[in-house]
Amino acid sequence: MIVPRETLRRAAASLSLMLDETALDRLDRYAEMLIDYNAHVNLTAITDPEGIALKHFADSLTVLSAVDIPAQARCIDIGTGAGFPGVVLMIARPDLKWTLVDSTAKKLAFIRAVIAELGLDAEVIHARAEELGRSPEYRERFDFATARAVAALGTLCEYCLPFVRPGGYFIAMKGPDADNELAAARTAISILGGGEVDSHHFPLADAADRNLLTIKKLSHTPPKYPRPSAQIARRGLGS
Ligand code: SAH
Repeated sequence: MIVPRETLRRAAASLSLMLDETALDRLDRYAEMLIDYNAHVNLTAITDPEGIALKHFADSLTVLSAVDIPAQARCIDIGTGAGFPGVVLMIARPDLKWTLVDSTAKKLAFIRAVIAELGLDAEVIHARAEELGRSPEYRERFDFATARAVAALGTLCEYCLPFVRPGGYFIAMKGPDADNELAAARTAISILGGGEVDSHHFPLADAADRNLLTIKKLSHTPPKYPRPSAQIARRGLGS
């Protein structure tokens, strides 16, 4: 056992979440694999078990105390990297149906290995979000989308909101500057069909404070979004 269970239990309790023994065992094995793989493939700068428990695991779990995700909901994690928050949320809530997306193949090789080892089930897709979001099989097919540390909020909304069905939510995990990012992204959010935004603040032990923005999808995203990657990079929506 490498991850201090007390750290995880305390973090979960402070978010009013319960992690059962299976979830704790899985998180432990996940941390072990992350440390092993990280010796060969650069997946994370955080490599000590306590840091992984707080800055990756507890941080990812904040999503579950910001929103009430109904059983069996269909969820997509964009730019999942080494699996944050997607794989942690799969472990905490094995009833949810996850699609994990990243544009970097070597990160997905790690994700596939973790999922197989833990006996979990998820769809893992190697794609750029802005291309996948145009495909009818994925567009507006999800109840929830999540993303942590992928792009500035306006760009992130163009990547993520197209996946969310009207009535669903995009949950953006942001740091201390979330309010300014939100002010700059308001026009983009409304162009993309987003509506009301709620902000949830979590002081994190030993890390920069976390702000989760839950953005409700109100209406369909117009067909011309997301734009091609080069256009997204060239000019922010609504700026
Ligand atoms: N969410 C993880 C990883 C953050 S690093 C975490 O918080 O630890 C950002 C990740 O987003 C990288 O793995 C990168 O490959 C991926 N990414 C960046 N732009 C992307 C895009 N347009 N579509 C899909 N993945 C993208």
